[in-house]
Amino acid sequence: MTIPDQSFQLHHTTPQPMAISSSGLRFTLSTGQEILDGISGGAAVNCLGNGNSELVKTMNEQAEKMAFTYHQSLGNEESEKLAKLLCEKSGNEMKAAAFLNSGSEAMEAAIKLAREYWVEKGQPLKNHIISRFPSYHGNTLGVLGIGNIPSRRTVYEPLFSPNIHHVASPQYERFGLPDESEEAYSQRLADELESTILKIGHENIIGFVAEPIVGAALGVMPPPKRYLPLISKVLKKYDLLLIMDEVMCGSGRSGELFAYQSISTKTDGEEGEKVVPDILAMAKGLGSGYVCISAVLTGQRVTDRIRKSGGWKNSHTYQNHPVNCAVARKVMEIIERDDLLTNVKQRGEQLLNELRELTKDISIVFDIRGKGLFVGIELNGSSSLEPRLAARVKGRCFENGLLVMAMSGTIDGIEGECIILGPAYVVTEEEISEIVRLLVMSIKEVAEEFE
Ligand code: PLP
Repeated sequence: MTIPDQSFQLHHTTPQPMAISSSGLRFTLSTGQEILDGISGGAAVNCLGNGNSELVKTMNEQAEKMAFTYHQSLGNEESEKLAKLLCEKSGNEMKAAAFLNSGSEAMEAAIKLAREYWVEKGQPLKNHIISRFPSYHGNTLGVLGIGNIPSRRTVYEPLFSPNIHHVASPQYERFGLPDESEEAYSQRLADELESTILKIGHENIIGFVAEPIVGAALGVMPPPKRYLPLISKVLKKYDLLLIMDEVMCGSGRSGELFAYQSISTKTDGEEGEKVVPDILAMAKGLGSGYVCISAVLTGQRVTDRIRKSGGWKNSHTYQNHPVNCAVARKVMEIIERDDLLTNVKQRGEQLLNELRELTKDISIVFDIRGKGLFVGIELNGSSSLEPRLAARVKGRCFENGLLVMAMSGTIDGIEGECIILGPAYVVTEEEISEIVRLLVMSIKEVAEEFE
């Protein structure tokens, strides 16, 4: 099949190459070309790869048994079992869950829950949110205002969310001062958060929103040392809620089921440095792309307060969908049974090591970083370049048979260009080497255009 010259899709001005079938980490396009998937379907989603017959079977069985119940009229066992499983997997740090359909819905839900918590507690003045610049937390009108990627929001401005304040998102490699340690840099950002709180008045603030490992805003960025504990200390001092967005980095992608646990208990390690969110959002890998499911989870104090007030007020028709929940539980079961988090850690190390080794002499590569199977390759680009550098590399990768994600943006006047990799958790050693080979080849070809 050739690419048609007219598209009926709203998103595109020109027809796109279409994927017509898939297996494991490979897509076959309508042109006959085969593409190796370096980013789980394009957006860090299908973490178990394509064509997983166990997931398809689970989906069919649950649809036959019972396709749908409206959560306000009838409960269903599948959502109860999944909620229990996620809470247990968090080491019981999370106490309750609800299931929605997309990352944006989960983040909307997280913000609504946080607001509801304070209103039910008798503090209705609390209606300001602090998030970070740059950040992305979804595309629906509420959370669009919390994140701040211009390409996604400018045309819709002014948004309906005036009470949003932004502090810097950490990037030590670019913004750490000469002679400033990682810890000192984290302290500087925690101080910035504290002075922002003082300016707004803590009595007016709901809480702070952040991804534990930045994904969507400007490439993959694990936080600098002690960042989360220091931020959490400030939030505790002013009794503010910590809302974590694990839509992209969660569900095992970091090497732990919950990304916040991979940072706060492993990297920062020390006693007493544990950071536990009050509200947590998950999506993408949760249903591995077989179903559209996301989750919002609550820690002790939010759960207690919401229960005391008679339960959560939120309602979407497809909330707690039984087919979605059954598939997500199966995803979780397969991850555990096949020890896939070990594969995520091992293949993630391999990915970082091979990339660092093979790109060390390429001048347009600025930094390579990541955690688990979530890796960012930051390039030295400029916004005057059209198309942008990351988009050029992504395009060249595609021509060479590799699917990656590209991000471009600006922080403090500095251009950021990033390629994101996030292959499925079932990726093999050979596939990682192939991903690296195709990406490095593509970066070199683009770099040569500037020589
Ligand atoms: N939050 C983060 C961190 C994301 O990466 C995304 C999507 O990329 C979202 C929220 C929104 O998720 P969705 O596109 O499923 O609505």
